[in-house]
Amino acid sequence: MQHVASSVVRARAVFDAGTTRPLTWRLDQLRQLRRMLAERHAEFAEALAKDVGKHRTEAQLAEIGFVDAEAAHLERHLEGWLRPRRVPVPLVAQPARAWTELTPLGVVLVIGPWNYPLQLLLAPLAGALAAGNTVVLKPSEHAPATSAALARWVPEYLAGAAEVVEGGIPETTALLAERFDHIFFTGGEAAAKVVMRAAAEHLTPVTLELGGKSPAYVDASTDLATAAKRIAWGRFMNAGQTCVAPDYVLAREEILEPLQAELIKAVAALFGTDPAASLSYGRIVDDRHFARLAALADASTVVHGGQRDAASRYFAPTLLRPAPGDAVMAEEIFGPLLPLVPVRGLDAAIEEVNGRAKPLALYVFSKDRATRRAFAERTSSGALCFDVPAAHLSVPGLPFGGVGGSGMGAYHGEHSVRTFSHERPTLDKPLRPDTLELLYPPYTRTKHRLIDALVAPVGKRIRKR
Ligand code: NAD
Repeated sequence: MQHVASSVVRARAVFDAGTTRPLTWRLDQLRQLRRMLAERHAEFAEALAKDVGKHRTEAQLAEIGFVDAEAAHLERHLEGWLRPRRVPVPLVAQPARAWTELTPLGVVLVIGPWNYPLQLLLAPLAGALAAGNTVVLKPSEHAPATSAALARWVPEYLAGAAEVVEGGIPETTALLAERFDHIFFTGGEAAAKVVMRAAAEHLTPVTLELGGKSPAYVDASTDLATAAKRIAWGRFMNAGQTCVAPDYVLAREEILEPLQAELIKAVAALFGTDPAASLSYGRIVDDRHFARLAALADASTVVHGGQRDAASRYFAPTLLRPAPGDAVMAEEIFGPLLPLVPVRGLDAAIEEVNGRAKPLALYVFSKDRATRRAFAERTSSGALCFDVPAAHLSVPGLPFGGVGGSGMGAYHGEHSVRTFSHERPTLDKPLRPDTLELLYPPYTRTKHRLIDALVAPVGKRIRKR
């Protein structure tokens, strides 16, 4: 795995030479990244279509255009975010000036999944470069066309700033044996544990962007037709292979009936009566996932959809009414299956959510303020969205990340710059006058009183007298 080690050596040499520190270098890289996306747009869109049957409009919305918007946002605000922040100095440390500065970490490893194979490598890349790091990118081997396109173009546009290491588990294993200054991983729980174990060897900090079952709760106060359309859009985009897709719906039985009818209408509106013929509908990434999804559907009760074709890996948008204990409710679905789960009401829905690992996102479709507050106060999730799934990703001021089982750390915009930096505290204390004379040993009664006055809270001093 000589090529793996040498890509890390090259990235480190560029960082160690100090090349990446100036603001101008960072802004140049962001511009180069945007140039690459503009000039190689067709190649990337084609690769995304090949890997997961992504329509070019969806490729623009969720991949190419998404990264361009993220890089543009970083470019616009970076100078301001990097400005040192003054911090007040307490009496005991005066006279002095104190401030914090965001300093680059070094070499960052970004490991990506296959479902948004461009966005989930290049959005972290933009943040890591903005923060003044060099980057080694490891695209997913399950999106080979996108991986090849990145390996072809990234070195050309971002020479010195970013390296691409293609390959599967052997290459990732070799990479993880190297020392990095930060590892940014997007993927599933099992691989995340491998990454975290490897990171522990070098005490490397990690950001883990994972998945899980993101619920959608719907109540009677909402507009069911619009809610259904939005849920269907979030669930069936990219053929359900989206980390923030609504994984299952919770509602009272009397809501589920009309909601099911609206979801069926919504699927037809989005993909026609035969989604297999729709160019807007994606395909399952590989045979293993196709077989996994087929088994989940077969072991539950299909109330709509269910049609599939193994040869083309087409799997229709499918609605399920699972029985308690069905496998589809035991794991993240990551495909076009949407279980509709009856609950007795708000409290039961919250209990259901809290009984599982903390989700990456929680969606509440309700106009009722008390219901919204109840979810805000009594649950924990990576994000909370009212009346819309997945769209929080498009707000660059919002941190994106999970909590508990759905991950640790966050990124996007300023949060990326902070994730890929060390906020270094700096103190500058003049040598003259040497006010430390008042604090140095030997200690006397006078010094004790003085130190007490300087460090103890005012209230405590008054009480002592
Ligand atoms: P994955 O965990 O199988 O693979 C992710 C990356 O890890 C790939 O590059 C792969 O090569 C590498 N990898 C896999 N097994 C490894 C091992 N044993 N040792 C070293 N490296 C290994 O995930 P995936 O199937 O590509 O993606 C699906 C998962 O990703 C879902 O759980 C989904 O929810 C999650 N996801 C999360 C987000 C997010 O932003 N939070 C986004 C997309 C996907």
